Amino acid sequence: MDPARNIDRKELFRDVKKIVVKIGTSSLTKEDGSFNRDLTEEIAAQVAHLKEQGKTFIIVSSGAIGIGCEVLGMKERPREIPLRQAAAAVGQNILMQEWMTAFNKYDLKVAQILLTYEAFSNRMTYLNLRNSISALLEAGVIPIINENDPICVHEIEATFGDNDRLSAMVASKVDADLLILLSDINGLYDKNPRKNEDARLIGTIEKITQEIESYGGSPTSTKGTGGMRTKIEAGKITSMAGCHMVIANSAIDNVILEIARGKNIGTIFLARNGKFKNRTRWIILSKVSGKLTVDKGAERAIMMKRGLLPSGIIEVSGTFGRGDIIEIESDYMVFAKGLTDYTSEELIKIKGKHSDQIEKILGYKNYDEVVRKTNIGLV
Ligand code: ADP
Repeated sequence: MDPARNIDRKELFRDVKKIVVKIGTSSLTKEDGSFNRDLTEEIAAQVAHLKEQGKTFIIVSSGAIGIGCEVLGMKERPREIPLRQAAAAVGQNILMQEWMTAFNKYDLKVAQILLTYEAFSNRMTYLNLRNSISALLEAGVIPIINENDPICVHEIEATFGDNDRLSAMVASKVDADLLILLSDINGLYDKNPRKNEDARLIGTIEKITQEIESYGGSPTSTKGTGGMRTKIEAGKITSMAGCHMVIANSAIDNVILEIARGKNIGTIFLARNGKFKNRTRWIILSKVSGKLTVDKGAERAIMMKRGLLPSGIIEVSGTFGRGDIIEIESDYMVFAKGLTDYTSEELIKIKGKHSDQIEKILGYKNYDEVVRKTNIGLV
């Protein structure tokens, strides 16, 4: 049945902690075009349950355009971009209200984040995004993300994206362990199952070959969304980032719970092993943009897997930005590499100072640590 190989998903998902769930337009819209409230309620119940087991969730929710069309009395989804954007603007806050009501039942708070692709192409904005999402998760809040349709400038994104690639980019940037794409179909078939009775469901995908890509076909014209093509694109992004991805049918009872406990449903795109899987390895293999010379105390702390505080920095060399990789040296020996949360300019101002003083000197503070322990690799 499974052409790739039989994966023990129970074992694979045992340590899965951070999960991104993307719900497609097709699942959030009922046959008669109305909003599928049952689904938001079911998802909230499952997320609340898994949160109690220590998992954290980020939801990427489509559906704003559909709701907007309903409110504006549009019989069909308009093809014109400005009209779609107008419908999205009307629908977005109603969509958020739906999620808020669903999660409120479980005493869970939600936060709205609207994104465009540009947010990912600028290192500063994506670092800020990553930091704000992790702050929300730490506070127990569920971020609900959608594409900022009303200001989307690329037609192709406004028409074809449908959040598949966006959710994969979010999953990769926040170091998620698993992305679940909920759709109106059981997973990826070797051809469009709506048109071919003999289409076969693919259980496991280890590598996205040209053949796999050909299964995506062209986008579904009726709903104007990405169909499987953008989901395969999403799989490429997550697998490189060391994150697994599952496409499954939102109509399956307790679909998120079942996936999280390792049941073989839908299609899994496995995370690629090796270089990109391990963050530390990626840091060690990266080109450096500068150097921090630290004292013996800081060296000892780093060797004991702690982060680097500004008080331990003696000298800052090179010009670098937030999110750049720098080497860390003590006694003329480079012993570690790390991803810095502060720029070289900022570090020159706060080197040798106590973390308590960061805010006073810079006017703000990202973290007490200049390089956090999860962002350090020993060389
Ligand atoms: P969503 O709104 O959930 O993102 P889409 O409508 O964009 O979903 O994509 C799912 C649809 O893609 C399916 O309902 C099906 O009609 C179509 N499709 C095209 N090719 C395939 C394939 N090879 N396997 C599965 N579904 C396919």
